[in-house]
Amino acid sequence: MSAKHPLKLLGDVASSDIPHSAFPIPHLVDTFGRVHNNLRISVTDRCNLRCTYCMPEDVVFRDRSELLTFEEMAHFVRVAAGLGVDKVRLTGGEPLVRKDLHKLVRMLVGIPGIKDIGLTTNGVLLADQAGDLFAAGLRRLNVSLDTLDPGRFRELTRRDGLDRVLDGLAAVKRAGFDRVKVNAVAIRGVNDQDAAPLARYCRDHGFELRFIEYMPIGADAWEREKVFFAHEILELLGREVAPLAPAPDNDPRAPATDFLYADGGGRVGIIASVSRPFCRSCNRLRLTAEGKVRNCLFALDETDVKDFLRRPTPDDAAIADALRRSVWAKWEGHEINSARFVKPDRTMHAIGG
Ligand code: SAM
Ligand code: SF4
Repeated sequence: MSAKHPLKLLGDVASSDIPHSAFPIPHLVDTFGRVHNNLRISVTDRCNLRCTYCMPEDVVFRDRSELLTFEEMAHFVRVAAGLGVDKVRLTGGEPLVRKDLHKLVRMLVGIPGIKDIGLTTNGVLLADQAGDLFAAGLRRLNVSLDTLDPGRFRELTRRDGLDRVLDGLAAVKRAGFDRVKVNAVAIRGVNDQDAAPLARYCRDHGFELRFIEYMPIGADAWEREKVFFAHEILELLGREVAPLAPAPDNDPRAPATDFLYADGGGRVGIIASVSRPFCRSCNRLRLTAEGKVRNCLFALDETDVKDFLRRPTPDDAAIADALRRSVWAKWEGHEINSARFVKPDRTMHAIGG
């Protein structure tokens, strides 16, 4: 825990502070009234790429024995579902480097109360796994891709693999996935020239492109000047690809703001995490690969549940209490835009993006 941060930290919260009885059904609610139903699970901190904005080149991964098993993750989700979580996204690290990930998907699909399961992947191993994942019940898929240029792909990810990602994207269609999203991070002076080609590729192939503003959560030297802001992306796409207009069905609580091409060429989403943070409507909590609950990507504090999961009989009451306490202690926002911002010790791959 950092003593530097002025905001309230988890250790300050006693479970007796939390008004369990304030809600007619069990809810994970914080002091700003935000109800949390959306859980992101990092299934591993490992990755087959080394994206500069996400992790250091000489990254050291955890020993596999430290990671939660699929059974432990599913048990955790069962407890979280009892508290109102109905949406789960698997991420990492790279989730597809975890052997037989489709088995975890199948376990989660069967949990009462879980309505929606998604996966975020770099796509390198997708061609081999798309069929098994679809058969297991996965329907929502986000594939991260920041450039169609092999040289810049290598520069950004410190690895080769563009062809394999493109093969993966072709495979997801054959497997039956529809409404596949392609996530891109645009960094000024690095790959901002890739935004329009990516947009054209996604239009041509029926993928929904989503830009995420570059955030200070990697090992690299983040500077505000490098953020290619949402309004700049929109202006560029409107000028170089096709005119865009706000989508009529935008959900004001969703992190992405969606736009439609005026010529019917599809949909583009923008996640303006830096220029227009969505903290006020945030409904997310996270479970790291080694079993820590985090109430924000930028949280400085986390709480261990692995110990409760690894008891001869898992301690569900303690897990539920840890979840409630964590959510109740959530701060108002990530503070990226204020002098109070403190970067977490962990980089993105170790939290779960
Ligand atoms: N390995 C998978 C992938 O790349 O899709 C899942 C994990 S990755 C951490 C999840 C998402 O976080 C990716 O879309 C990635 O581009 C995004 N991401 C990583 N570092 C980021 C940063 N500094 N700013 C914005 N997005 C970032
Ligand atoms: Fe790996 Fe995803 Fe991080 Fe890139 S963004 S290094 S693919 S975890």
